[in-house]
Amino acid sequence: DVVLTLEGVEKFYNKGLANEICVLSGADLALKPGELVALVAPSGAGKSTLLHIAGLLDEADSGSVDIDGKTLSGKSDRRRTRARREDIGFVYQFHHLLPEFSALENIALPQMANGVSKSDAETRGRELLETVGVAHRAKHRPAELSGGEQQRVAFCRALANKPRILLADEPTGNLDPATSDQVFDALMKLVRETGLAALVATHNMELAARMDRVVRLENGVLVDG
Ligand code: ADP
Ligand code: ADP
Repeated sequence: DVVLTLEGVEKFYNKGLANEICVLSGADLALKPGELVALVAPSGAGKSTLLHIAGLLDEADSGSVDIDGKTLSGKSDRRRTRARREDIGFVYQFHHLLPEFSALENIALPQMANGVSKSDAETRGRELLETVGVAHRAKHRPAELSGGEQQRVAFCRALANKPRILLADEPTGNLDPATSDQVFDALMKLVRETGLAALVATHNMELAARMDRVVRLENGVLVDG
């Protein structure tokens, strides 16, 4: 059972120009439900590029991206956008929560956009906030939350519509070590409770070591360990 598969993914920037660079040169990955995988690489190695391709935000030059064995790379924008909305949640280094809405509203709104009633959306929102230990801040706006709380809310929002894949790009990159641990514990709990498949880019080797496995991006390919 594999939910996300990358096979032979190649990505160039400035293809055909004098400043062409090859960022991915045949990256393979198989991500299973319920597994939390660390993506480790130096800055500039191509982690964001890989996450964008895996998340169907960007297209590879060759190779394939499959969700549940269905190939989505090379498909129409509409098809890929639908798959992204249904199956993939994103978290970034900065929370990107809507500043004028409360934590709970930030989690409820994406559900309501998908046709969920306000009361059901808020019920799920409260459950998610409970799981990550931020329920007592449900009515606070992002600026009224600590950095760790903001990131935990960002995880809840990413999971609001029950995606099966979570892609996170340095989600603790902006936090001190103690807060990073707390955010990581919340993420672990979400993964364990939902059977989510998560790929988390991080520079933090201690956090990486606590995940189910580590893949390193080296010279454009993914290697174990
Ligand atoms: P990381 O996330 O590991 O820091 P990125 O995926 O952001 O790495 O970038 C990998 C390499 O590709 C870097 O050398 C970066 O400068 C280059 N790059 C990223 N995006 C573009 C782009 N749109 N055009 C040209 N080069 C890019
Ligand atoms: P931390 O100890 O994680 O660094 P802070 O000192 O930033 O957190 O905040 C401590 C608590 O105060 C947090 O729970 C946060 O929700 C709350 N808080 C911080 N800033 C504000 C604010 N401007 N308005 C309301 N509550 C706030």
